[in-house]
Amino acid sequence: RLDQLTEVKLERMLYPKPETLKPPRTDVLTITPWLAPIVWNGTYNIDVLNAQFHKRGVRVGLTIFAIKKYTVFVQTFVETAEKFFMVGHKVNYYVFTDRPNDIPNITLAEGRQLVVLIVPSYQRWQEVSMRRMEMIRDFSSQRFINEVDYLVCVDVDMRFSDEVGVEILSDVFGTLHPGFYGAGRQGFTYERRPESQAFIPGDEGDFYYAGGYFGGTIEEVYKLTNFCHNAMRTDRENKLEAVWHDESYLNKYFLYHKPTKILSVEYLWDNGFGVPDILKRRRFVAVPKNHNAIRNK
Ligand code: UDP
Ligand code: MN
Repeated sequence: RLDQLTEVKLERMLYPKPETLKPPRTDVLTITPWLAPIVWNGTYNIDVLNAQFHKRGVRVGLTIFAIKKYTVFVQTFVETAEKFFMVGHKVNYYVFTDRPNDIPNITLAEGRQLVVLIVPSYQRWQEVSMRRMEMIRDFSSQRFINEVDYLVCVDVDMRFSDEVGVEILSDVFGTLHPGFYGAGRQGFTYERRPESQAFIPGDEGDFYYAGGYFGGTIEEVYKLTNFCHNAMRTDRENKLEAVWHDESYLNKYFLYHKPTKILSVEYLWDNGFGVPDILKRRRFVAVPKNHNAIRNK
């Protein structure tokens, strides 16, 4: 009912005025052709955004999977998230694991809690990675919808090293993959076999999105994960698996369901790529791992 809407009105705030003739960034694309923002340092005012999201009392769920040996990453992940992720907002960590006894007890700030969700593991690491879509989908409809407003779904083999706040939130968002932000379509490692549900032809595609960082409202994340899981299931029935697993299906989803916001590589970096000039902040970086020692264990 229009007469029952709750008003979100800001208080008086002092800050520099946006300059119509002086864009804050001219070295990178900050808006897509479908008018979704691409979030780079310098393009937003976090005080204004925080004021808006605090008024709305936003609750954020952060999902990670720590299956088998990947439980070793949880401590650093959560400790650094306490320093940098959505500080001052309500946050639920959802840790999906098959080894609940290996999840450390970590003291959290007020308004934040950690929920351990016990789930099955799979033998192949590719399957572990792909099944995240099914589990996020199922818990979205059974649980997350009652507990949080937005979900942020990320890899666990990561650490926060600078602020990640409400500037990332939108109906449905993806993240530029640090290996491909400068690449052309031919360079994107999309699934190229027409038989696969993840197939993207050579003359299509906007960006190469990373499998390890997406999110949005619970409803939008449900739609995204449901699409990806069903596409993977169809391929499995046809003895197919896309070249980059869940990441390939995510890229297919975003091709025809354009994200409403895109996070720049500041939000997902790997120091193996060095530090280019455009990268003013490294907010969330890969923790180096020995693949043989940690995968399928
Ligand atoms: N994962 C896990 N246990 C495994 C393999 C993968 O929990 O044995 C989860 C974990 O959350 C990890 C994600 O799946 O971050 C994606 O796998 P990985 O990080 O190895 O992929 P990469 O980033 O190296 O492409
Ligand atoms: Mn990873």
